[in-house]
Amino acid sequence: MTFPHLKITFLGTGTSTGVPMVACTCEVCTSTDSNDNRLRSSIMIQSASTTIIVDATPDFRYQMLRENIKHIDAILITHSHKDHVAGVDDTRPFQFFSHLPTEIYGNNMSLEGVRNEIPYAFDTTKYPGIPKVNLHEVSLDPFVIGDIPVIPILVWHYKMPVYGFRFGKFTYITDANRIDAKEKEKIVGSEILVLNALRKEPHISHFTLQQAIELVKELKIPRAYFTHISHQLGLHKAVNDLLPGGIQLAYDGLKIEI
Ligand SMILES: [Zn+2]
Ligand SMILES: [Zn+2]
Ligand SMILES: [Zn+2]
Repeated sequence: MTFPHLKITFLGTGTSTGVPMVACTCEVCTSTDSNDNRLRSSIMIQSASTTIIVDATPDFRYQMLRENIKHIDAILITHSHKDHVAGVDDTRPFQFFSHLPTEIYGNNMSLEGVRNEIPYAFDTTKYPGIPKVNLHEVSLDPFVIGDIPVIPILVWHYKMPVYGFRFGKFTYITDANRIDAKEKEKIVGSEILVLNALRKEPHISHFTLQQAIELVKELKIPRAYFTHISHQLGLHKAVNDLLPGGIQLAYDGLKIEI
């Protein structure tokens, strides 16, 4: 099977609070550079015939409107934190038009997070207009959505198992601060790696900027984009200008092809 050409859109690149953060007056949160405005982290992967969204953020509605999305084939959930599942109810408009449920993929914990997010969707009495979702529990075995093969990668978010996903030569990893050697091997050979890089100071469950840079170098990935960025990282332009060759900060609306 030849791997399809993919278009990738960064729907959001911010940490759980988004940037600007409510009530903050720091230079990043008050910046006039649009690249300093970051919705919660999510990407869209598109082949000619298939559209996949990774994570359903609290900003899902606006992200779909901004990118003018009329149809999605599946949502992959990385983990059950609010900033990655809060948007599942906002998939309802797609269902109004398609008359099909939303197909959601994730590990057991991620799907539990979805059930907790929209418990009324799983009631025995079906209230009219509730979201209709098909939950697909995935292990670390590869699976296929439409014409896009997907390889799950287990990463650690402090003690929480989180899934990264590899699509051909493109790998997306958010909300991690540790990856076991065996899982790192699955990333090797990627041409583009997206990795979370929260801030410069250490954090209990996220890679710092330096740790993310070191991982890109260790795995010898030629191109990398950092995401899930906190206002504490600093101004987009100032930080981006100092990154090593091949590495950039992602920003909302960034589109790449592979
Ligand atoms: Zn997160
Ligand atoms: Zn701030
Ligand atoms: Zn998280």
